[in-house]
Amino acid sequence: MSADIIDGKAFAAKLRERVGAVAADFQTAAGRKAGLAVVLVGDDPASQVYVRSKGKATLAANMDSFEHRLPDDTSQAALVALVEKLNADEAVDGILVQLPLPGHIDAQAVIAAIDPDKDVDGFHVINAGRLATGSTGFVPCTPLGCMMLLTDRLGDLSGLEAVVIGRSNIVGKPMAQLLLDANATVTIAHSRTKDLPAVVRRADIVVAAVGRAEMVRDDWLKDGATVIDVGINRLAPAAGEEKGRLVGDVDFAGASARAGAITPVPGGVGPMTIAVLLRNTLVAAHAHAGLDAPTDL
Ligand code: NAD
Repeated sequence: MSADIIDGKAFAAKLRERVGAVAADFQTAAGRKAGLAVVLVGDDPASQVYVRSKGKATLAANMDSFEHRLPDDTSQAALVALVEKLNADEAVDGILVQLPLPGHIDAQAVIAAIDPDKDVDGFHVINAGRLATGSTGFVPCTPLGCMMLLTDRLGDLSGLEAVVIGRSNIVGKPMAQLLLDANATVTIAHSRTKDLPAVVRRADIVVAAVGRAEMVRDDWLKDGATVIDVGINRLAPAAGEEKGRLVGDVDFAGASARAGAITPVPGGVGPMTIAVLLRNTLVAAHAHAGLDAPTDL
């Protein structure tokens, strides 16, 4: 058997196109563009790349992008003051503070300062609480993107066995909440789980969000399982390579022979994250302007 490839890149491109079209309608209705503010502290190279691509994607989707780049030694108080200014800024619908923050800053305190209705990353405790209690709020972009891929592939998830490997606040926990909301039977596995292969073998749906290269092996999977690989890991360069290959948390070649469908790395979950960020920003903009967002957004 050879698994179908779940093409997150193509799905994300379609979502971005839809967001762009709705953003143009929003501009007509609201008399201004939707706006996303991104705050970057320090010069972490990976964060620089993420922030640049978020900015470009925001502009390409007919929205305003406001970038704030602050030096590495910015104080927590100064960062919170900027967040408060953005909370009050009528042109800003969504605020994203790029993580990780330098060690002297308490990230939780900064996230807590974001207006929950502008928290398009869905990391504020109010939004985490809304998700946990099944009320409407902002859902973290990566797990929401995974959920879109899963429902596109499988339709109704009711009664399916889902195993989420990883319990971070950013991916694993919200992913499990979303699956539970969709009536799947959900297990969260983590670093202390006993006999992880046996747990994963029960799953109709496996979501791997660990950060360990190719940890999930083919013989851990039930035949026909749907596998969502969130992991992004760079291998050490092989002979003749300048940079090592990017791989997920799942042994893609092996798993492809057993799974029913699988996301590749790169080109699976990764592109969904920014597309969902734009979608969340546009939803925030509609609420901010007192307009109804289209229900299919
Ligand atoms: P994290 O380090 O915060 O969490 C990792 C989780 O994996 C922890 O809950 C831990 O309990 C669990 N874990 C660690 N070792 C384990 C083991 N041996 N067996 C089972 N569970 C184990 O990471 P995160 O932020 O949730 O990210 C996870 C991965 O997803 C990383 O590779 C990250 O780069 C990637 N990621 C990708 C995107 C994207 O856009 N595609 C977004 C966020 C994160």
